[in-house]
Amino acid sequence: MSNPSAAPSPQTVQIPERAHAVGPGWRQLLDHLHHQIHAIAPGYRLVDLTEKLGGLRLHVENPGGTTDTLHSLIDSARTESVRTCEFCGAPGRIRTRNDRLGGWRKTVCDTCHSAWSAHRLMIVHGVVRARDR
Ligand SMILES: [Zn+2]
Repeated sequence: MSNPSAAPSPQTVQIPERAHAVGPGWRQLLDHLHHQIHAIAPGYRLVDLTEKLGGLRLHVENPGGTTDTLHSLIDSARTESVRTCEFCGAPGRIRTRNDRLGGWRKTVCDTCHSAWSAHRLMIVHGVVRARDR
């Protein structure tokens, strides 16, 4: 059953347009989430997509009404994000720079953690910038 009015309007922002708000390591899980949400709510509107306390923070509105399914998809993506290095997509976990208590938290793998701790790695507009020494 197709319903043309359920298609997103050109002004509607969805996940692909805002994926650069977080690191490239999460691009794949965001693509996956977009396709999952799109399958049940093609006209969904992305309200917020950011990294918060090391994990993915995401909020969408569905013109057809928000469903529990939508919430559980987003929850799963969040769970996945705190196990996925935001820099490179390798398995990771939430850590702080040099594992200091109370520092800025980010989900990183061991390799990226070293570089990030030494301020040699950062994410600028969704792109990883590396600095030698
Ligand atoms: Zn990494």
